[in-house]
Amino acid sequence: MNKIFSKDGRLLIPIADRIKVKSTKKEEDVRYIVDHAYCPKGCSIIDLEHEINGVPGLRIRFKREGSEGEFVISAIEGDFDKIVLSGELRDGVKDELFCPHCNTPFKKLVNCNCQADADMIVVGLTPKLDYNEAITFCNVTGCSNGTFIKSGDAIRHVRLLGSL
Ligand SMILES: [Zn+2]
Ligand SMILES: [Zn+2]
Repeated sequence: MNKIFSKDGRLLIPIADRIKVKSTKKEEDVRYIVDHAYCPKGCSIIDLEHEINGVPGLRIRFKREGSEGEFVISAIEGDFDKIVLSGELRDGVKDELFCPHCNTPFKKLVNCNCQADADMIVVGLTPKLDYNEAITFCNVTGCSNGTFIKSGDAIRHVRLLGSL
C-alpha cells in the first residue's frame, strides 16, 4: 500500500485499502487518518492495543453523573465506530471527557448545535496544543458530529455561522 502524506504531515490512506465503504463520490475515497493525538498536557492518547478498522484508535476517559469509563474512537475521519472499554455510553447523553493517563479534561472549542449543553471537544495532533493542528468532535453520544473533524474547518464553519 502506498502511504501518502498530506501537507501537514498526516497520513492519508485511500479508504479502499483499509475498509470496505461504499462511496459514490471519488473525493470520499480518501480520508484523514490521525496517527498522533495528545491530551492538553501532552500524553499520547493513541491506543496501539485497540485498532478500529485496522488503525489504532484514540483512547478517552468519560465521566457523567452515575457513570464513568473509557472508550476508544476511530482514528479515521468520518468513522463512527468506537470500542467501549468500560462503563456505558447512552445515546443523546453528554459526557465530560478526560485524558486516560493523567485525567486532564480536554478543552472545549465551541458549543455543538445538537443540544444546548453539548461541546465540541478538542484533541491536539501535536504535544503542545495548537488549535490549528487539532481535531474536534462532540461529547454527546450519537451526535452527527461524533466523528472528528479538523478544528480549523470547525472554526471556519462557526465563523461563517457568525457565532464566534
Ligand atoms: Zn494526559
Ligand atoms: Zn453534538
